[in-house]
Amino acid sequence: MRRDAWLALLILAPFAVGGCGGTAALIPAAAIAVKGASKATEAARPITDSEEYYVGRAVAARILSKYKLDQNPKLTQYVNEVGETVARKSSRPNPFRGYHFAVLDTQEINAFACPGGIIFITRGLIQTCKSEDQLAAVLAHEVGHVANKDGINSISQARWTQVFTAMGAEAARQYGGVAGNLVSLFEGSIDDVFKTIVVNGYSRQAEETADAAALTELTKAGYDPAAMVVLLAAMEAKGAGASSGIFKTHPPTSERLAKVKASVGQSQASKGEKIRTERFKKMTS
Ligand SMILES: [Zn+2]
Repeated sequence: MRRDAWLALLILAPFAVGGCGGTAALIPAAAIAVKGASKATEAARPITDSEEYYVGRAVAARILSKYKLDQNPKLTQYVNEVGETVARKSSRPNPFRGYHFAVLDTQEINAFACPGGIIFITRGLIQTCKSEDQLAAVLAHEVGHVANKDGINSISQARWTQVFTAMGAEAARQYGGVAGNLVSLFEGSIDDVFKTIVVNGYSRQAEETADAAALTELTKAGYDPAAMVVLLAAMEAKGAGASSGIFKTHPPTSERLAKVKASVGQSQASKGEKIRTERFKKMTS
């Protein structure tokens, strides 16, 4: 199956918690609920990687109700190859179902990391990049958010406690009657994450950590970390006065630029940079 078609299927598959019972789509949610039952007394336990994945998939579906998925399979494949290259060098190379990268068909300059490893980049941001190393810088920053679990951590502790307590009660009733309540509880969690990554943004600290993680991933993967400086400078020029998209959810680009510049120092472009840039131009033209 084509990778973009597969991704659409993966993301758009229903995230069913409770609901109208008995179909294959309910298996993941049932698994979560059963797990919740056995741990009902630990209502506020940390989320597992598989739970994070299912919440992330629902967040991705919500993003795809706001943006259109780009339909160029070659570009999607290329973005996945570059993304996988940096993800393998991250502090979390193997989330529950791996990393998946997709392109959103919009001129807005933006990128989103859903919990668990589904990462979106917009066409507008790809066009702001002028080389593969710059594209890798964007993807490495988003992988940094996944590795640090910033998305899933934006769900409030109170909300999780509520969800797990309800799961325990639900399992005790053998899934009878209160399924609707469970759905609404999970929807709240998904709302928390969606609002954070699309509307409000993470904390300044989380962004600085993701930028630092990106520089490490780029260096380890053989990309030029200075590409991030060039990209942030281009974003600053494009985003002057903008208060939407990535400029709304991230600290001022000038501040990010100053910090990244200080960390990168005088790095030299690696030997393959020219070939990679040519490849980037071919794939994105
Ligand atoms: Zn970020």
